[in-house]
Amino acid sequence: MRAVIALGSNLGDRQWSLMSAAEALNEVGEVVAFSSFLESRAVGGLPQPDYLNAVLILDTQLAPEELLRVCQAIEKIFGRTREVHWGPRTLDLDLITCDEQIIQSEVLTLPHPRASERHFVLAPWLEIDNQAYLPGKGEVAELLANLAR
Ligand code: ADP
Ligand code: MG
Repeated sequence: MRAVIALGSNLGDRQWSLMSAAEALNEVGEVVAFSSFLESRAVGGLPQPDYLNAVLILDTQLAPEELLRVCQAIEKIFGRTREVHWGPRTLDLDLITCDEQIIQSEVLTLPHPRASERHFVLAPWLEIDNQAYLPGKGEVAELLANLAR
């Protein structure tokens, strides 16, 4: 399957964390596209440093739930702390889509429920896939244009 993954970091060497996560993901498939980095303000939680964000596309044989577990393991390896909900973290990996799959389980919601509202997801995604489509929501180009309005 083809997965779209959003990466974020707002602690430590942010760019190193994102690049290391991409390298780790390349071990469970093939990273076929990796956006440029962009900065975003943290949303919710306590005041905290700005995020560095990116989006990548991964071709993998893993199932979505397996890929989520891999993402969580990679987050742990890079020392993410979870003391504060929506607090600062060295690495956050969110599954945005897995093909066109719609999933609503205890642990995994696909497509990611907040993707359509997040500039820092939509903009880098569109950069690496100008046909990008968010199942149930529409063309990413259009969603992004609506956000900017
Ligand atoms: P956020 O990314 O919204 O800041 P967290 O990373 O702390 O919050 O949330 C992780 C939790 O969200 C995990 O327990 C995971 O099971 C759940 N989750 C549900 N859907 C997804 C998804 N599409 N991608 C990543 N995590 C998800
Ligand atoms: Mg997350």
